[in-house]
Amino acid sequence: MPRVVVAGNWKMNQAYSEGIKLATDINHGCNGIEGVEVILAPPHVSLFGIKEAIGNGPVKLAAQNMFYEDYGAFTGEISPVMLRDVCDYVILGHSERRMMFGESNQVVNMKARSAIKHGISPIICIGETTDERDSGKAEIVIRKQLQQSLDNLVDISGIIIAYEPVWAIGTGQSATPTIANDMMGGCIRDTLASVFGSQSDDMPILYGGSVNSVNATDFLSSESINGILVGSASLDGSNFVDIVRQASKAC
Ligand code: PEP
Repeated sequence: MPRVVVAGNWKMNQAYSEGIKLATDINHGCNGIEGVEVILAPPHVSLFGIKEAIGNGPVKLAAQNMFYEDYGAFTGEISPVMLRDVCDYVILGHSERRMMFGESNQVVNMKARSAIKHGISPIICIGETTDERDSGKAEIVIRKQLQQSLDNLVDISGIIIAYEPVWAIGTGQSATPTIANDMMGGCIRDTLASVFGSQSDDMPILYGGSVNSVNATDFLSSESINGILVGSASLDGSNFVDIVRQASKAC
């Protein structure tokens, strides 16, 4: 059985002191909520401060991105060597990285290999655009993203997949739980099984795209949805903790 995960992606929000407060509040609020792995992805500059503030509480940390090299002349980049002491996870291939920063499946794959080599588990995001869905190509796109991003990975034990249809991210227009459940229980599970065999049975698949405390249970109670990657609603501590609580009840 895949574990249940609720992750919050803060994107480029929360200045340092705001982030410390928000993470502390969420960490405190999640105390005693059972059966859910909670992950926060703050901006890089806040990671160490937040780690210190939350100590060994229930919340784990993720970076929002990383480069695949360990060191070198890569101005502005951050490496897994710099992240591995503070992060359990790294989000890779988010649609904003793919669309605004030209990140290809091949680059996501190089980053995933590098993260795993350094003991950081990738949260790999995949998702089709509106045009791809409207032209009937959603499953082809998803299959290709998975196969290429996951190519030749050795230790897959920590990997999390996040299905985030691009048209549902930050739009307030989430997929229906049925659309998400069908894609996740069908195309995504099948592709994972064809790449990794039964080893992938325990890999959590999260849904992401305009989830909030009002609609979370609709997704979390769907059979093939093992958790949520939350964007904007993760910037409100009590909403986010409420989603974690709903995940705990649904699991
Ligand atoms: C995201 O960016 O990963 C996301 C799911 O955003 P939102 O919840 O705001 O749609």
